[in-house]
Amino acid sequence: MPNTIPHDDTLHRRGLMLILSSPSGAGKTTIARKLLAEDSEIAMSVSATTRPMREGEVDGKDYFFVDEAEFERMVDASEFYEWATVFGNRYGTPKAHIRDRLKAGGDVLFDIDWQGTQQLFQKAQADVVRVFILPPSLAELNRRLTGRGTDAPDVIDARMARAQAEISHWDGYDYVVINDDVEGCFEKVREILAAERMKRTRQTGLIDFVRGLMAG
Ligand code: 5GP
Repeated sequence: MPNTIPHDDTLHRRGLMLILSSPSGAGKTTIARKLLAEDSEIAMSVSATTRPMREGEVDGKDYFFVDEAEFERMVDASEFYEWATVFGNRYGTPKAHIRDRLKAGGDVLFDIDWQGTQQLFQKAQADVVRVFILPPSLAELNRRLTGRGTDAPDVIDARMARAQAEISHWDGYDYVVINDDVEGCFEKVREILAAERMKRTRQTGLIDFVRGLMAG
């Protein structure tokens, strides 16, 4: 995550943790990438995982790829906000840098499932904004998963079965956006982010500013 937090205003605010969840293939990764490309104040939280690296993935950027023993060590040392087992592999959110970044006014983006969302929410409730992205239909979800071409048919079947289970957790989120059009979905997520950044409780610089106005 970059250390510099650009600001176009003078008031300091505390950063937020934006969680994007969805069943695999509902478009969350595309939305996350666009957000990171177009918004310099948000950076991705990089998870650690024990799953093998896929072609095209970069260690330290897509994930920190670690073996079972290293993952276990990190669990024991309380180095994760949360961790979960998905498809037989382990995934966890390392605490390092996240707290400093929030304090400095930078936002952190999370691409995690409902279990991780619940755990993160329990530990950092006031900083967390939870957004769930739904596919327009299961047929469309299947088409998107097949078209991606990175996974074997039995993996796709497993993901389809998991998708319905994942969707049942929609009510554990603050916002729900249906991704029938990627541009429209992206704009909605940006609007959510813009509004959440302006929350009074996040604008830590307001106290001095308003005092100045009142004293004026
Ligand atoms: P993939 O292996 O396809 O990259 O990810 C599989 C699943 O693991 C996705 O549903 C993703 O949201 C989830 N995942 C990735 N990183 C984390 C993490 O740090 N914590 C949790 N709980 N889930 C994660």
